Amino acid sequence: MSDTHCPYCALQCAMSLAAPGGTAGPVAVAPREFPTNRGGLCQKGWTSPEVLTAPDRLTHPWVRGDDGLLHPATWDEALDVVARGVRRVQDAHGRDAVGVFGGGGLTNEKAYQLGKFARVALRTKHIDYNGRFCMSSAAAAGNRAFGVDRGLPFPLPDLGGAGAVLLLGSNVADTMPPLVQHLAGVRGRGGLVVVDPRRSATAALTAEGAGLHLQPLPGTDQVLLLGLLHVLVADDLVDHAYLAARTDGWEDVQRSVAEWWPGRVADRTGVPEATLRAAARLLADASPSRGGRGGYVLTGRGVEQHTDGTDTVTAAINVALALGLPGRTGSGYGCLTGQGNGQGGREHGQKSDQLPGYRLISDPAARAHVAGVWGVDPDDLPGPGVPAVELLHRLGDEVRALLVHGSNVVVSAPDATAVRERLERLDLLVVCDVVPSETAQLADVVLPVTQWAEEDGTMTNLEGRVLRRRRAVAPPPEVRSELDVLADLAALLGSPAKLDRDPETVYDELRRASAGGRADYAGISWARLDAGEELFWPCPDEAHAGTPRMFLDGFLTATGRATMTPVRPGGPDDDLRPDAPVYLVTGRVLAQYQSGAQTRRVPALNRVAAEPFVELHPHLAGGIGVDDGELVTITSARGRATARARVSTAIRPDTVFMPFHWPGEGSANTLTTDATDPVSGMPEFKVCAVSVARAEEE
Ligand code: SF4
Repeated sequence: MSDTHCPYCALQCAMSLAAPGGTAGPVAVAPREFPTNRGGLCQKGWTSPEVLTAPDRLTHPWVRGDDGLLHPATWDEALDVVARGVRRVQDAHGRDAVGVFGGGGLTNEKAYQLGKFARVALRTKHIDYNGRFCMSSAAAAGNRAFGVDRGLPFPLPDLGGAGAVLLLGSNVADTMPPLVQHLAGVRGRGGLVVVDPRRSATAALTAEGAGLHLQPLPGTDQVLLLGLLHVLVADDLVDHAYLAARTDGWEDVQRSVAEWWPGRVADRTGVPEATLRAAARLLADASPSRGGRGGYVLTGRGVEQHTDGTDTVTAAINVALALGLPGRTGSGYGCLTGQGNGQGGREHGQKSDQLPGYRLISDPAARAHVAGVWGVDPDDLPGPGVPAVELLHRLGDEVRALLVHGSNVVVSAPDATAVRERLERLDLLVVCDVVPSETAQLADVVLPVTQWAEEDGTMTNLEGRVLRRRRAVAPPPEVRSELDVLADLAALLGSPAKLDRDPETVYDELRRASAGGRADYAGISWARLDAGEELFWPCPDEAHAGTPRMFLDGFLTATGRATMTPVRPGGPDDDLRPDAPVYLVTGRVLAQYQSGAQTRRVPALNRVAAEPFVELHPHLAGGIGVDDGELVTITSARGRATARARVSTAIRPDTVFMPFHWPGEGSANTLTTDATDPVSGMPEFKVCAVSVARAEEE
């Protein structure tokens, strides 16, 4: 048996794998007791071994021939095509003409090595990753307020004792079902407050006295939060002592919410005044300053994926700070990171502006430290690149070649049709993946790589807890680790620094590179993880116990106090108009994961969620003459999608919902806008204007 963790989401449920056939063959999964999942797994975790043996698993490299088709190739042939292609593009157009696009599912070692490969072997500034689509607004807001971003700066089980939890834009009951166990206590106390335009599975947990569901108009989350803070101020429910001792900027923030009185907020959001006041009172009563059990404010993609996402999360943090929650045992603010290594993936250098340890690439001291670990001249490191959406915009023009690792942008990126067209204009597209994803199908070279149960490594879950991924089964013979691929390509490209291929060696180097940074892994050794120690970063040395609860002694800002910043709502970039009178929101369903490249290959999951759908209210359905199960066409300024109608009172009459796991006709991201938050680079997945019609009328 090998003790490891699920390949999918950031909860990283603990599981044990058995490979009865020895080094290859079928793998059996059993859930494992762990503080986060407490023995639970969702459908995706139970069926995760099926991706290992998917019928179309990539088992050898492919290279596109002169006939335009992909043909089997040897590793030597494929890597040679990549190296020659990269050299040709860089010789003709400069080093920055090659880009790298990473993923939030890569292990810490792969994420780290990808950043090093880009900066040292390719010497390009253009690297970013799909985590930019995930929690970048929360990361920017966390850095702004606390001086650092760690998804949950406290262990998940702490939620169990809370008197109230405000859950903003997160459907954990579908996306991370075992997490719901940690909400049982607060539900029993009637303190769960869920904000979502849909009565999602999570919003439904507030029924029967378990809490409140606030159902705002899409794009008005920030207005709602400003209204909440207005009520806390007006009713004198804030924690004055905490604000005076632990924050800067409260006076300005307090003044800024004066204009958001409940009646005005109700008009904008559709959330009744009484409900807003009840939510404020419920949260305040849980505040330690009022003798409560403690409270939490948690954000998810629903409030983060907006053009004012950073400011919206800032508004949520301001509410938490006004109640005196962050940096206190039993209370806090956190972001529920989505992807499996969404946390670690953003710490080790995949982001366009960062080096390992959450260091800024523009900081001379950071460049000197990391260059020292890499054995290169700091002046040879490129400067900052651009966030993911901007990088995708430049494909085919400034960026002529792209190496994609662990990402299926043809399905997962906003305005997906435009992304596909730009990928098709590249001189060279290289994709490392485990299956022929929609993006891999466009590639000039496809390299088959190992997946979770076939490899050793580390992941960092949504709590900042570092976990060991352990190999249980051998990969197919011609499949290699991405660490091997990067090491071989670096050597072919004449990299001035060697790239190691052994995960433990790479991890040790990562620890040295992170030492002294904000995400400091120096003391979290492979041996300590193997011994079963529960270790959360920062952990500066091997005698350190790690930091499960951050900020108890101060925030990581220059003053040690949290920075409160006044914000103003921006509103949707793509707002309603006569030819697009309905809002589209997108999200996930229980039985599929992200772009679906893995889960759409699992028959048991496809039986549950076989195809995309459009959830719409009976009033809207009646208005266009559509019955449940009939085909509907959704049209935005960017494209058109067709899917089956699910008529439901769970959604607002002015809003439709589509999951984004599918390509083709039912692709939600053919509709979404690639307008981004100017601070974080986060695209506005969560609201755009569309029209809805019966399919046959189109
Ligand atoms: Fe895997 Fe997430 Fe499901 Fe847990 S909740 S089994 S980590 S997909």
